[in-house]
Amino acid sequence: MERNKCSFCGRKKEEVDLLISGISGFICNTCVEQAEAIVKEEVKTKKNAKLPKLKLKKPIDIKKFLDQYVIGQDEAKKTLSVAVYNHYKRLVQPEREDVDIEKSNIVMVGETGTGKTLLAKTIAKLLDVPFTIVDATVLTEAGYVGEDIESLLTRLLQAANYNVEEAQRGIVFIDEIDKIARKGDNPSITRDVSGEGVQQGLLKLLEGSIVNVPPQGGRKHPEQKMIAVDTKNILFICGGAFEGIDKIIARRLNTQVVGFGTREKTTGIDKSNFLQYISPMDLRHFGLIPEIIGRLPVIAHLNPLDRTALRSILTEPKNSLVKQYTTLFEMDELSLVFDEETYDYIVDKAIEFQLGARGLRSICEAIMLDAMYEAPSGNEKIFTISKEYAMAKFESHSMVKFKAS
Ligand code: ADP
Repeated sequence: MERNKCSFCGRKKEEVDLLISGISGFICNTCVEQAEAIVKEEVKTKKNAKLPKLKLKKPIDIKKFLDQYVIGQDEAKKTLSVAVYNHYKRLVQPEREDVDIEKSNIVMVGETGTGKTLLAKTIAKLLDVPFTIVDATVLTEAGYVGEDIESLLTRLLQAANYNVEEAQRGIVFIDEIDKIARKGDNPSITRDVSGEGVQQGLLKLLEGSIVNVPPQGGRKHPEQKMIAVDTKNILFICGGAFEGIDKIIARRLNTQVVGFGTREKTTGIDKSNFLQYISPMDLRHFGLIPEIIGRLPVIAHLNPLDRTALRSILTEPKNSLVKQYTTLFEMDELSLVFDEETYDYIVDKAIEFQLGARGLRSICEAIMLDAMYEAPSGNEKIFTISKEYAMAKFESHSMVKFKAS
């Protein structure tokens, strides 16, 4: 063995900063550094090799898939498709030194029952990464009654069968994010348990950090060993109705247009749907802290569902209500037929009761109960739901009888 020379690169002691001696050789500081880099790279490749390869679907294909289940909401679908696609691209690309692609967490704003959760669930169907839906209303700051913020990640870990690597590239849908807004546009409120504290806690997860997660969730198992989860590559999609935000938007649009020569700008504003003009500023006024808004760079809005949309929802999606009932009847070798007018009647009632898309289901159930009860034992092979039949069944249902006037 040659003394005072690196056994790896051959450089002499004088040529390097440090030479470490071993039992039968030497290594210099440069070779140590290089070896470390090789080890790190190797470990990473091995880890990635263990994960199933992701199938990268193009945004247009993602949207096409969403179209099969969700009616309308084209803007939101497009935004989501691009965000999910980019999320995947970040995951499959080896880390680059020159450009660091930041993740684009999303916030979806839209009235309740317009399809936010449905969009998130449908995306989940398509994905081969772990996915979970959590409700922001149950979250509280540590030490208060409710669930700790880390429990979001417990759910994701569970969805990933406790495979941490898998969970670390998953997607979390946080519903009702608007419910943790600061109450009132007043930053001087120092203690706001349900609002700002939770937002601060959430921020840590959104921006990417290593979080200790209780694998069983909650505080019921204080003895459990925590699992460290890196949220850097987890995509967060938030949803909320943000009730009243339309007024904030309207106010902002108006303040901009007051003044000389700017009148024309007001025309062209679609006053029936202010949400389409939503901007980060409005979320701030609503009570989200600026840091959170900064971590939710993609804003998508969902449109209110009109009569045409409701009617389409009844019949068109791959698992529409009508298709579900028809399939149930087919299992008994019966044909179920809805008259066209029946659809209009159901939509009318959903609008009258202000139930939106969510109400379609309960109205249909009220109409269909007797049919589903009697038809399997009857002799008729074809069962027709006429408007008159639907009306008779619905009007006699307790839902209508006890409708508050
Ligand atoms: P949100 O999360 O916006 O409050 P959901 O996605 O939970 O609303 O919608 C409630 C139900 O209404 C869904 O399960 C679905 O059956 C129906 N629905 C709502 N919006 C749509 C839509 N755009 N297309 C198809 N079905 C819809």
